[in-house]
Amino acid sequence: MYGIYIHVPFCIRKCPYCDFYSVAAQEDRMRGYLDALGSQICSFPPVSADTVYLGGGTPSLLPPEAVRQILDLLRSHHRIAEEAEISMECNPASVTVETLRGYRAAGVNRLSVGCQSFQPALLARLGRLHTAEDAVRTVLDAREAGFDNISVDLMLGIPDATPETTLRDAETAASLPVDHISAYILKICEGTPFADGVEGIPDDDTQAECYLTFCGYLEQQGFRQYEISNFTRGGKTCRHNLKYWNCGQWLGFGPGAHMSNGEDRYSYPRSLSRFLNDYGMPVSGDPLRFFSHEGTVDAEEAVILGLRTDKGISLKEIRGRFGWSPDERQRRFLDQCEKAGYVSQTEDRLCLTRAGFLVSNSILSELCP
Ligand code: SF4
Repeated sequence: MYGIYIHVPFCIRKCPYCDFYSVAAQEDRMRGYLDALGSQICSFPPVSADTVYLGGGTPSLLPPEAVRQILDLLRSHHRIAEEAEISMECNPASVTVETLRGYRAAGVNRLSVGCQSFQPALLARLGRLHTAEDAVRTVLDAREAGFDNISVDLMLGIPDATPETTLRDAETAASLPVDHISAYILKICEGTPFADGVEGIPDDDTQAECYLTFCGYLEQQGFRQYEISNFTRGGKTCRHNLKYWNCGQWLGFGPGAHMSNGEDRYSYPRSLSRFLNDYGMPVSGDPLRFFSHEGTVDAEEAVILGLRTDKGISLKEIRGRFGWSPDERQRRFLDQCEKAGYVSQTEDRLCLTRAGFLVSNSILSELCP
């Protein structure tokens, strides 16, 4: 089964750390984008999909009618399963309970709320447009609007963050009626204002303490860490993101979107004007001709992505699919990692422990085929 990712490339204002492709939201651009998106969606042969994910950018800048239009088009052109997970990212700065009701009625059944932090000082360091109260209110409004699958998205390693502020964020998140929490460590990306210099980034030891404090608290509160940065309460994993970590298949629409058929990966340029140009009219012919080939899915990718999850990798599966298994040296290295508490191994499965998640880069650089 495929997943379908839709990139909505609009934001009110660019955050100084953000590397996702987005441009300023303007009405005429958004209209043009929706038309071109429709033509891109229909340019691909129909697939059967059981997840849809509207990400960005800021999908919640789209009015509910536009979201309905996109989902209706997907349903009429592709085979979207009845019980499909349909996720949408939403920014607390751009939603009300009415728009949330509209998204729910349009068919969105999972909401990912970009809170980042609940501490005013940390939100200010990130240049976010919403307040901590907005973030809490959005989660409560989403429940009221009928969402029973809500994720709170947080960020770790924010400038000036400490283990104490991290614990407070974990406490607030876990106290809300949410089913899922994502917490990614801030990455300084080239080309962003933060890359020109930002003060107060916690050092490695503090980051490690923040991460372990966060994970430990969520575990006490009944959350299962099913991926390095993702936690679920009640088993509601993000089925769409699992397709990425399991090297599955998905179509990606919109400027800057990526896709994979499970064997090859492709990306569409990060350019709205190019998108409007390529798909301004219905198109026919090879649907991949406007995409770049990004590479082939290989054992290295399967190991790197699979080890992000708590289920880890099946060595038998990787051998069957890619013909790779660890050599003698790598086996000895894995045994040492197991003794040190970073890895857990059975005859077939290989997983990282929580301590292993923290040093996953070093482990992967030794292990990767
Ligand atoms: S972090 Fe989110 S809201 Fe901020 S610029 Fe990036 S996509 Fe837009």
